[in-house]
Amino acid sequence: MLFLFQTEKPFKLSNYKPGLEYAKKQDALDELSQYRTQFHIPKDKHGNELIYLCGNSLGLQPKSTKDYINQELEDWANLGVEGHTDAKNPWLPYHEFLAEATAKLVGAKPIEVVTMNSLTANLHFMMASFYKPTKERYKILIESDAFPSDKYAVESQLRHHGYDDKEGLILWKPREGEELLNYEDLEAILKTHGNEIALIMIGGVNYYTGQFFDFKRITDLGHSYGCKVGFDCAHGAGNVNLDLHNSGADFAVWCTYKYMNSGPGSLSGCFVHERHAYDKDLNRFTGWWSHNKDTRFNMRHEFDVLPGAEGWQLSNPPILSMAAIKASLDMFNEVGIDKIIKKSKKLTGYFEFLLKDLGEDTIRIITPENPDERGCQLSIQVLKADKSLHDKLTEAGVISDWREPDVIRCAPVPLYNSFEDVYLMVEKMKEILKSST
Ligand SMILES: *Cc1c(COP(=O)(O)O)cnc(C)c1O
Repeated sequence: MLFLFQTEKPFKLSNYKPGLEYAKKQDALDELSQYRTQFHIPKDKHGNELIYLCGNSLGLQPKSTKDYINQELEDWANLGVEGHTDAKNPWLPYHEFLAEATAKLVGAKPIEVVTMNSLTANLHFMMASFYKPTKERYKILIESDAFPSDKYAVESQLRHHGYDDKEGLILWKPREGEELLNYEDLEAILKTHGNEIALIMIGGVNYYTGQFFDFKRITDLGHSYGCKVGFDCAHGAGNVNLDLHNSGADFAVWCTYKYMNSGPGSLSGCFVHERHAYDKDLNRFTGWWSHNKDTRFNMRHEFDVLPGAEGWQLSNPPILSMAAIKASLDMFNEVGIDKIIKKSKKLTGYFEFLLKDLGEDTIRIITPENPDERGCQLSIQVLKADKSLHDKLTEAGVISDWREPDVIRCAPVPLYNSFEDVYLMVEKMKEILKSST
């Protein structure tokens, strides 16, 4: 058992070594290192590259994005409305060009995914179909530190259906003095309240702690009590192996501007499990883009819903935003998520190794230690620190994310961050902490 445990952890902390030379050597050995050159790395006012560890908030721009968008601008300029059918990538079926690569990235079948709307909007559209409260079963379960938009969305769904948003909301909370959530606690909640819960909606990778949940375990548990189960994968898509189809989840949503590098406010992805693909009785909000493509433009036909996730589209989509998504997906497809995750585990483990050297009386990492329970983000609680630490890091050229009262979130993104980035970040943090004591 012990032996098994050891071989399952390929990047043991004791395998890493300190020093800049080691970091540079890892970059030289890294088979993905060339991808960094395919991104625009933001620079300071002297023209020096910043240490950008904020891909969990807004991913960097691939250099190819401009060409993909320019293609559509040119086709629009030259073809006008005819671009819908005659553009190099015709606009009518444009979303279909994204389906296969998206499906691969999130572990789904092409019929299960679609790119549309924005994230919180999709969450509502999914709840229109999968939150069907009855007098006995109307509650929604979320994690206690859910992303605010998700919490507001589920609360408003409760109110929309005439329920009290406090009484109707059940929170899965960490234990006293802890940050991470515990599956035994979820089981206990369901044992008591399972028959009152209509929907379980969890942030698949918690935005604050970086905890990556076991989707299958949560879904099986929820389904065994008759609950519908959905995940918000904003911090998961392009970061971890989501395996959405096999998880059995009813639905999932994510944005494409974080780890999917598709530009600020870009469109959202949406997954609806195959078992719902042909269910025409499943209620939903619809528009002309949910209608059968063959008769869509006859305009007068009775509504005839498309099978699969496409059947949840409402509008013809913004092609310029989709072009940026296509640029990014083509890169993900070329590299493959498996290689990305392999580097992610190694790079994040290295980050953890360096941080631990700062000592337990200085920092505490609240993200799970097990590489299978996290992506590339580490949330670092800095003891006795305040926001001035974050400001000093920014001044020193490190772009990270501060969360009150004392947590810095950093995401070394495998496609564009280097071992040297991580090394330099920790060195800068060390200097700042030393000078402030
Ligand atoms: C980033 C993020 C959002 C943002 O929602 P938008 O609708 O894209 O503005 C919502 N939920 C989670 C979990 C997020 O991480």
